Amino acid sequence: MDYLGEAIALGVDAIIFGACMKQYLKNKNAMSMIQGAPYLDIDKDLKEIVQTHPDQKLSYVSIRGMVKPMGNPIVSSNNPKVSGVVQLLRIREHVIQRSTAGFWSDHERLIQEVHNVMPFVLDSNGYTVEIVDPVAADILDMDVISDVFTPTVPSVMDHIWGFFAGVRQRGVQTTEKMLRKGTMITGIGELVASKDGSTLKLQPPTNEAPFYLTNMQITSLVRKLDDTKKTYRWLCLLFGTVGLVLGGLMARRFYKDYCKKRDDLRTREELERNRVERRRRVRDDDLPEIHLCVVCRINPREIILLPCGHVCLCEDCSTGIVDNCPVCRSAIDKKSAAYIS
Ligand SMILES: [Zn+2]
Ligand SMILES: [Zn+2]
Repeated sequence: MDYLGEAIALGVDAIIFGACMKQYLKNKNAMSMIQGAPYLDIDKDLKEIVQTHPDQKLSYVSIRGMVKPMGNPIVSSNNPKVSGVVQLLRIREHVIQRSTAGFWSDHERLIQEVHNVMPFVLDSNGYTVEIVDPVAADILDMDVISDVFTPTVPSVMDHIWGFFAGVRQRGVQTTEKMLRKGTMITGIGELVASKDGSTLKLQPPTNEAPFYLTNMQITSLVRKLDDTKKTYRWLCLLFGTVGLVLGGLMARRFYKDYCKKRDDLRTREELERNRVERRRRVRDDDLPEIHLCVVCRINPREIILLPCGHVCLCEDCSTGIVDNCPVCRSAIDKKSAAYIS
């Protein structure tokens, strides 16, 4: 295919553009939803406010309070002084990998990721809201408790094996993160009251809106989303322009090829017309009826049709007859010049 290179480049560009556009719209929607979400204080009136709404539900609100475990908190595996309600343990392997092009580059592979969750509430002056499914949050801010990289000391055999296998291990990184008890966080999501009205819960929204548990204030969160949105807008512009340029170049090449083909065809037709004209001038006009082409009745018979062997066409008419002999209707296998003298 003539345009394969350009088509692949354009396809890749379109995919990146699409991904950036999706992120841009996601951040834009999230911003407008957060700005439209009312901020409610966790106090004695909150339960009543929720209960006055249909289904005892507020579809998107923001609240702020202190993380308080419902029961015994999780104690950090790396620092016994730290305890919290959501613990993330992650083990990643760092390797140097040889790409298909032959270059060695750094890669990370996730080996294990575990979340431990203890039910918890956001507390404000003794009034509480339980947080449901915190791990499902789009943003879940946690403190890094420990982040240790243990380098691998390779043996000679490892070096040799790594060279042939194309993968060398650099080391293992173990990370522990924790949402500590006592942290002030902002929760943005769906607020519901339990059936008996005794407890309030903040859960991931059912209307696809983002769920946030962050130690940022609303204004900082909006600013952060705005920055991300701007970055993606620039990327959209960049890849959009690249796409337009590529598309323009392809269109230009296509048009050039089209013009060239059209000109070639014109030249060929012109040459053919000249040839027919030249042949006409050298022909003998005074021929007996028996020697005239059966189709045009003007030119002499010049072509033999095989395998039937009929000499019945002039060269001009023979170009338009390809299937059957006009005299005996048998299939034409081959045409050849015939000289009647
Ligand atoms: Zn003819
Ligand atoms: Zn025939």
